[in-house]
This record gives sequence, structure tokens and C-alpha cells, in this order.
Amino acid sequence: MCIFCKIVEGVIPNKTILENDEFLAFEDINPQANVHVIVIPKVHVESFAEVSSDTMKNMTPFIQEVTEKLSLETQGYRLITNIGKDGGQEVPHLHFHILGGQSLRGL
Ligand code: 5GP
Ligand code: ZN
Repeated sequence: MCIFCKIVEGVIPNKTILENDEFLAFEDINPQANVHVIVIPKVHVESFAEVSSDTMKNMTPFIQEVTEKLSLETQGYRLITNIGKDGGQEVPHLHFHILGGQSLRGL
């Protein structure tokens, strides 16, 4: 089972920001900005390259809800997903990084 599947199962604890039946948003363990949140589907999908359009259809408004909850809407934020080896993906379970809470210009 991958690390993020273990987080979904509750085997590894997490600091949850928002959750529904399909998705989970939690704080990154090694934050790269004042706000650094990871959003994942609860089902194991390896990366953006494999995700279905059905999952993305629901994931988009969920991510927007997370950014609203984090009050990032006015100042903005960065949304990133790394894919595979060259993309620098370390955890092989689709995840979006939400980074913000500060200016990310130059980062
Ligand atoms: P990637 O490099 O795969 O795009 O990003 C993986 C992210 O997951 C990294 O930012 C890393 O800090 C985070 N991460 C890895 N293991 C854990 C964990 O056990 N808990 C939490 N909350 N974040 C993790
Ligand atoms: Zn997984």
C-alpha cells in the first residue's frame, strides 16, 4: 500500500483540512511555503497521466473548496502536480500541491 493510501486508511495520521467521500486534503509534512496542502483522491491512481476525466470532474471543485477554506482566493496560490521520474514525483499516488500564504514569485 502506498503512503497516501495509508493516510486514507488512517494507518498514518494526517492533519486534515477537508474531506469528502472521494477526496482528502491534508497538510504536507515538509511544507515548502506558509501554506502547503496536498489533495488526493481516496482511490489509488498513480498520477495525473492515469486519472479519469470523471475523477478530475469532481476533484476540480473539491480543490477550489479547499482553497476557499484556506482563504487563498484573494491573494492567489500555486497548484502543482508532479508526474513520474522527470516530473520529480516521489509518492506514486496522484496528488496536487496547493502552495500559498506568501508571494511565490521567484520560487
Ligand atoms: P511529490 O514529490 O511526490 O510531488 O510530493 C510528495 C509530497 O508528499 C512531499 O511534499 C512530501 O513532503 C509529502 N509527504 C510525503 N510523505 C508524507 C506523509 O507521510 N505525510 C504528509 N502529510 N506528507 C507527506
Ligand atoms: Zn495510493
